[in-house]
Amino acid sequence: MISNKEWVYKDTTIIIDTHCHLDSEQYNEDINEVLNKASSEGIEKIIIPGADINDLEKAVMLSEIHPQIYFSVGIHPYHIDQYDEEYLCKFITHPKCVAIGECGLDYFRLPEDEEEKKQNIALQKKIFIAQIDLAKRYNKPLIIHIRDASNDSKALLIQNNAKEVGGVLHCFNADEQLLSLSDHGFYFGIGGVLTFKNGKKLKNVLSKIPQDKLVIETDAPYLTPEPFRGKRNEPSYTTYVADMMSEILEIPRCTIEHLTTQNANKLFFEKIA
Ligand SMILES: [Zn+2]
Ligand SMILES: [Zn+2]
Repeated sequence: MISNKEWVYKDTTIIIDTHCHLDSEQYNEDINEVLNKASSEGIEKIIIPGADINDLEKAVMLSEIHPQIYFSVGIHPYHIDQYDEEYLCKFITHPKCVAIGECGLDYFRLPEDEEEKKQNIALQKKIFIAQIDLAKRYNKPLIIHIRDASNDSKALLIQNNAKEVGGVLHCFNADEQLLSLSDHGFYFGIGGVLTFKNGKKLKNVLSKIPQDKLVIETDAPYLTPEPFRGKRNEPSYTTYVADMMSEILEIPRCTIEHLTTQNANKLFFEKIA
């Protein structure tokens, strides 16, 4: 028997997972089950962000098979040596390409050698700027990845006029100095970290994010929300993020869904409609 609460959710939920690596080999065995479960939980659309260039064609293929799947084209800061603009451009005009990214700066895993570190940072910046330019050229929003690099990322977004296209700070790191990017057309992607016991910083900053700039994401297969932390993440678990948002902001769960879905539609889907 299902509880009354569950019944209401299943019947009315609409959530968009704005960041989900469904092209990961972790879904090779059961992608259809994962998608069926997501659909039955009301996950209406899912965006596969570009990260590793070798997975891009798989993401495109998945978007062609499944109507709810979309993709973006880009290179993650960990894979900057793969950057091949000519190849990437082949996929940007695809009807299901909704964004450029995930691109950005990640100083979490820099080389120890000072000279190598300098070179790595310089190359990260160059590839990030190239992708901001690409987004502006094709009029697509950006999916931004920032880790331990708030200052430089913010500066580059402003200096390179990313405001022209806007985008999302995916897996928002709760750094308050990034909040002002909402005035530059940037949204804030909130995922499983919000449910973590050590996610206090994000919990505290959540109410400071303008409500018309909140979107939900899983970043699956990573960052699985409680109560499944440690297991593989999947799009249906966005419901736990929505629950936590509702609790912290003291806004009804259905309003959270409506709000975040409307925001994601505005950022990613109105342009391709
Ligand atoms: Zn990321
Ligand atoms: Zn990601």
